[in-house]
Formats: sequence, C-alpha cells, structure tokens
Amino acid sequence: MKYRHLGKSGIQVSELSLGSWVTFHNQTDVDLTVDLMTAAYDAGVNYFDNAENYSDGKSEEVMGAALKKLGWRRGSYLISTKLFWGLHDNPNEKNTLNRKYLLEAIDGSLKRLGTDYVDLLFCHRPDPNTPIEETVWAMHNNIERGKALYWGTSEWEAEDIVSAIEIAERHHLHKPVVEQPIYNLFQRHRFGNDYKPVYEEHGYGATTWSPLASGLLSGKYNDGIPNDSRGALKGFGWLKDQLTDVESLAKVRALAPLAEDMGATLAQFSLAWCLQNPHASTVITGASRVEQVHENMKAVEFVDRFTPDVISEIDKIFANA
Ligand code: NDP
Repeated sequence: MKYRHLGKSGIQVSELSLGSWVTFHNQTDVDLTVDLMTAAYDAGVNYFDNAENYSDGKSEEVMGAALKKLGWRRGSYLISTKLFWGLHDNPNEKNTLNRKYLLEAIDGSLKRLGTDYVDLLFCHRPDPNTPIEETVWAMHNNIERGKALYWGTSEWEAEDIVSAIEIAERHHLHKPVVEQPIYNLFQRHRFGNDYKPVYEEHGYGATTWSPLASGLLSGKYNDGIPNDSRGALKGFGWLKDQLTDVESLAKVRALAPLAEDMGATLAQFSLAWCLQNPHASTVITGASRVEQVHENMKAVEFVDRFTPDVISEIDKIFANA
C-alpha cells in the first residue's frame, strides 16, 4: 500500500481506504465490522470514512464499537465523518451547514464514534441557504475546539470550493483541504474535469467515493441482482435502476476482457483505474464481506498497468472521457 498526501496538506492517507455507507449496521454487526476493518488495516489502510446520517447514526456507533474492540493506537489511523443531512426533523438541523448545526452535530458524531476528534470533517453537501462565510467560520471553530483536524467539502461546485478557500485565506482561518467526489468509470466528469483548477491551483486533495458504482463495476449484476448484494437490500430500491441498466451492463461486459488480459478481476481493474488519477488522494472502497476487502486491496498491484492502449480501449467503451 502506498500513501498519498491529502492534496498539499501534510497528512498522508493510504491510496485505498474503507468506508461504511450502506454496509455498517445494515449489512454488518460489530464483529463483522471488526473483521472488515482488520482486513483493510492489515493491508495498510489508514483511513476509514463515515457520516452522521449513514444508517441514522448507527454506522458511526458500529464503527465506534469496532474501534473500541480493536484498540488501535489513535495515531495509526484517520477517521472522517460528514455533516449536512442531520438526524432531527427540525428546520435548523436538517439539510444545512449553518453554524448552530455544525457546532452541535459534531458532538453527537464524536460520541457515537467514541473519539475526541475526527481527522477529517466534511460538509457532506453544499447548502445554498447558508452563506459560505458562516460555514467556513463554523468549520474553523470546530478545528480550533479540537473536534476535527482538517476539514473539507463533498460534492460542492468548484467555484464554491474556491470561494471557501479565499474566505479562509482572507480571515486567516483553517482552509478546507479536501473534496469528497464520486469517481468511477461511469461518473468521471466532475472529478476528472471540473475540479482540475481546484487541485492544480489550490492543491486540494480528494477522497473519492463509489469506485465500483455500488458494485456494478465488479460484474456481479451482469446476470441479474444477486440476493446477497446491495441491489437486493430493502430500502435501496432506488439503486435498482442503475444496477440493471442495460447499456451500463453492456459496458461492464465489454470491460471484462481488458481486466482478464491484465490478470485482474473487474473490481480490481475498476479500482486501479481510479487510482491511476494522481489527483485522487485515496479511493474509498466499500465492502460487505472480508473476501471483498482482500480482493479489492490487491488493486494496488495493477495501477501501473494502464498503458495508453488500455486507456484508449476503456475510453471507447465508456465514451465519457
Ligand atoms: P463501491 O462503489 O465500491 O461499492 C461497494 C459495494 O460493492 C460493497 O459494499 C459490495 O456490496 C460491493 N463490492 C465491493 N467489492 C466487491 C467485490 N470485490 N466483488 C463484488 N462486489 C463487491 O463503494 P461505495 O458505494 O460503498 O462507496 C465507498 C465509500 O464512499 C462509502 O462507504 C462512503 O464512505 C463513501 N461515500 C461517500 C458519499 C458522499 O456523498 N460523500 C456517497 C457514497 C459513498 P454488496 O456485497 O452488498 O453487493
């Protein structure tokens, strides 16, 4: 496992990391979570992602309980959480990045995670109804209060990220240092193109999400929805259309011979493709079982194997470069 700087900040993250969305609590109890996190940590992963709203806070509780059992030295790993959607149906605590919510909600996350601070704290979405300046001050204050070490954005427009950086610079506040964007073979535009100036001119880092498009890029949906997959989970019906889309499945099938030529599984191939983008500080993987973690961690062995010919074949299949 290699480690990459989070943009131009001093902190380094493993190039592959592990996230908890959908899986922790919905698919895994504390014991299985311990096993998943152990498999990742043993492979060199030093970063674990979470969010306040994943399973309505239960995902943070499960990760917190797992970390307690694991007893790892706190300096040896990073945790992130994300705030925006909130847990309470109240005008000031839902879909917001206002100061009151950001300063109060972090305490709930820390309690559930069983830690005094998170390493990275993200604004999970932009909030057009709160001035960016208010959000920048609140995130700065969370850092000053010792509740987070670094902060960042998730799915913000590039111009809003630049605006936040400039506000922070003007007032000598802690700047956001990292974006959390979706990035996979199907959805590459924003990360690959729109954010380019943010990485190149401002040295912003990126922790990218859904590298397998929820499992679609592993090829597991080629013959329908397996009963034991994310696509079959109760409450995730909205994902079904994506996972059974005929055109998308044809692209996954067309990718298979390229992966085979490399000696990689489709999942390893698709993860390694994300990793060969140098602006990805870390690619956050997801897994519901230990064998998936073992398989996915081996993706690092294929990063250097994307020759111009392979890239051009991929670009022909997806036609979205
Ligand atoms: P992926 O797109 O990689 O999907 C992961 C899922 O695919 C697994 O849970 C598993 O589902 C299946 N899978 C993984 N590996 C394999 C394999 N080798 N073979 C077959 N199936 C496999 O990532 P996620 O969508 O889970 O996103 C990763 C992380 O990114 C999240 O945990 C979260 O931390 C973060 N994220 C951030 C968001 C944001 O808005 N900032 C939004 C979404 C995610 P199963 O076994 O159940 O089929």
